[in-house]
Amino acid sequence: MLKKYDLLIIELAANRQQQWFRVRSRKYDRLVGNLREYLKNEINRVVNRIITIYSPAEFVVERLNFQNPNLSRRMNRLLSRFGKGILKKKLSSLSEMYRIKITETNPVYSSQECSVCGYVDKNNRKPQAVFRCKCCDKTIHADVNAARNHAARSSGVGMNIYLTKQLVLGIVVQRFLHKLALLGKHADSDPERLSKRCDSLAEGLLSDNPYFRGYPAQLKGFS
Ligand SMILES: [Zn+2]
Repeated sequence: MLKKYDLLIIELAANRQQQWFRVRSRKYDRLVGNLREYLKNEINRVVNRIITIYSPAEFVVERLNFQNPNLSRRMNRLLSRFGKGILKKKLSSLSEMYRIKITETNPVYSSQECSVCGYVDKNNRKPQAVFRCKCCDKTIHADVNAARNHAARSSGVGMNIYLTKQLVLGIVVQRFLHKLALLGKHADSDPERLSKRCDSLAEGLLSDNPYFRGYPAQLKGFS
């Protein structure tokens, strides 16, 4: 549906620009207004459905930017502008009406981090819909994996929405290295479900992974 809107809006904008008119017109505004209504209905419908099914006490949501690489830049700007506002309004009405706690989490690297062992790698997500951990081999729907990371991030300390990309990566990487070092010391134990498979693969994986560059070998448990 968004692709359909995108084509219509782009075509209209291009036509207007070709004729040296400004892009905004009554027709353009109407089309964009329809898009906004559509987004509002969809966001409200989906959130209401979640509330009906799960009656949650808390709603953990990643700070979305509503970007989609398959849509045009103009469309992405519109989505970002409308989507954020609509979702924010909906969430605040939930917290007012049902006293549902709303927690926003930092989205950075949440799609590349394994929700089981914590290993972070940009190759963990190939193809896009499937998450497959290079380390522990966990295979899971990519959205489910990311959602579990958000649930963990919402209750974990030290990770908030204001951290930069670099800082978040640092936390994720060091947490994994810490687990790995523990595993090295207690070969029989399985701290936080970090598997033996992980341990035997880690040295090779980490040396090829730019995210782990610059961390000393002792931290990685290879000394
Ligand atoms: Zn894993």
